[in-house]
Amino acid sequence: MKTALYPGKFDPPTLGHLEIISRAASLCDQLYIAVFDGKKCRFSTEERIQLLSLAIQELTSEACNKLRVISFSGLAVECAAQVHADCLIRGLRTPHDFIIEHQMASANRQMTQIETFFLLSSPQYAQLSATLVKEIASYGKHLEGFVPQSIEPIVFAKLSKFIPSS
Ligand code: ADP
Repeated sequence: MKTALYPGKFDPPTLGHLEIISRAASLCDQLYIAVFDGKKCRFSTEERIQLLSLAIQELTSEACNKLRVISFSGLAVECAAQVHADCLIRGLRTPHDFIIEHQMASANRQMTQIETFFLLSSPQYAQLSATLVKEIASYGKHLEGFVPQSIEPIVFAKLSKFIPSS
């Protein structure tokens, strides 16, 4: 495996994402972390790129040197072609993830022959999602143990502004 692309929303990046990035980096020469430029995200594309760029500094310099954070709109396979990625990386947490990812990986392979490699989430992150992080912060609870330490204050400050009214 040479160049890989890890696409996602990362809205916001979590410790689950960072663990997949770290493990994927050990398997390839270069890893593009591709932030989906979607409209319906709480954090802007620029903010998510900035958060990921900060969070990956927590990894070893060996891993960090292999990483590039980019954004994309449209299909992940088109982005993969643009950066000459040999394969896609996705994380799998639960059987529910598998059902969705199976469909997506099959469609991607049908379109461009690209392979998707799946990394199983470690048990401590198997229930962690960006949605859960947004929910916790919206009730004013800090996010230690859920998002990378280096971005926790920024993520909490933004998300805790949306405390739901009773
Ligand atoms: P979400 O919004 O569901 O957190 P993303 O679109 O940002 O997810 O996900 C990008 C990729 O990261 C997907 O392959 C997803 O399965 C994976 N992922 C998300 N959270 C985790 C986690 N806690 N552990 C492992 N993989 C994860």
